[in-house]
Amino acid sequence: MSFSKLNLCEPILKAIKEEGYTSPTPVQSQAIPYILEGRDILAGAQTGTGKTAGFTLPMLELLTRDPKPTQKNKVRVLILTPTRELAAQVGESVSTYGRYLPYKSAIVFGGVGINPQIASLKKGLDILIATPGRLLDLIGQKCVDLSSVEMFILDEADRMLDMGFINDIKKVIALLPQKRQTLLFSATYSDDIKKLCSSILKNPATVEVARANTSSELVTQKVIFVDCARKTSLLAKLILQNKWEQVLVFTRTKHHANKLSDYLIKIGVSAAAIHGNKGQGARTKALADFKSGEVKILVATDIAARGLDIDQLPHVVNFELPNIAEDYVHRIGRTGRAGNEGEALSLVCIDEHEYLKGIEKLINKKIPSEIIEGYEPDPSIKAQPITQGRGGGGGRGQSQSPRKQNNQSSDQRRDGQSSHKKPEGQRSKPSTRHSSGNRGR
Ligand code: AMP
Repeated sequence: MSFSKLNLCEPILKAIKEEGYTSPTPVQSQAIPYILEGRDILAGAQTGTGKTAGFTLPMLELLTRDPKPTQKNKVRVLILTPTRELAAQVGESVSTYGRYLPYKSAIVFGGVGINPQIASLKKGLDILIATPGRLLDLIGQKCVDLSSVEMFILDEADRMLDMGFINDIKKVIALLPQKRQTLLFSATYSDDIKKLCSSILKNPATVEVARANTSSELVTQKVIFVDCARKTSLLAKLILQNKWEQVLVFTRTKHHANKLSDYLIKIGVSAAAIHGNKGQGARTKALADFKSGEVKILVATDIAARGLDIDQLPHVVNFELPNIAEDYVHRIGRTGRAGNEGEALSLVCIDEHEYLKGIEKLINKKIPSEIIEGYEPDPSIKAQPITQGRGGGGGRGQSQSPRKQNNQSSDQRRDGQSSHKKPEGQRSKPSTRHSSGNRGR
């Protein structure tokens, strides 16, 4: 199929052509016709499937079919994203695909000055891309009026709920007109998502490109069993031996992200860490340096990495498995994007075998495993519960190890990390994620 069959106007087709896209991805070819019919959409699509263009292209097309002047503080399209990074990336896509159209858009998220955001809203906008916290701040200050929203797009709805945004979302929805078109994108379908869908979508068309909770076919997955204490040197060996040029490495905690990136820098590998404790400027710079190739290894926590749009990422390494099985799917969704093959490697120590089981159950397949010569796990090391400092065990459907005093794992003790430190991905309730720096406020 070609884009010309999708009934998009010439300025949009021109921008698509300039991006070098020759044909729509499955989510685009399925979703765009429904959206152009005015239908609500429930799309099960993870990042890397081309979902952003899947909603941005028809959204721009619908605006061109019904031109209206902008009105002070009002917006015609509201796009809500869970993180600042994702908001920025969606905003970039809106500008890219809309570059030959006259629409005004703005991105609003927390962590940066609110005054320029207020000023752009005052002038009137066609499209507003926002994270929930800052949007509610702006609504509270009467700088944005949602009563004219024609289209509401909820991107990465599952992650919104994971991050504890449900009440914020409900507040926003209460301010939207009843008569509107709503598009909801989610990589996974929990009961909470189903409940949200039934309350905000009207007779939605369902679009599902990769079955929810399955990992991308294009990603080669591999597990390497290795002792916890030897993961760092194994990773360095893999990077140097294989001459990897661009690797996204995941840790469960901010502390481990920092520690690992410091180590890599020390041995001469350009690396940067990205997590919720880093300021917006540092995160943007780390991502830009990684994209440009100046930084080869980006070490990230789950929340910080959410929504990172990096073309053709060849390698993802799970330095530590996530304690939430769904996060594994999101992590490996960073590679094998839009038709490119990728490799996802997980370094798994004895403490993480339960996490691995949970992941394999979720993706419904066994991940091939191997042991690297010289890095064979020591059979005398017994599994220890992964306590707070190691990643706050007890993700969805996984039993939480009781946290006892002096129950630090060997890794924590080595790190000198106290057990009161909260990992970024730790949740107080199974489905609620609290993070200090990345909630978009
Ligand atoms: P997304 O799933 O929206 O994060 O998009 C993943 C990547 O796919 C982005 O880098 C897009 O630039 C790219 N992409 C989107 N649509 C297409 C397409 N039709 N052909 C090739 N690449 C695309």
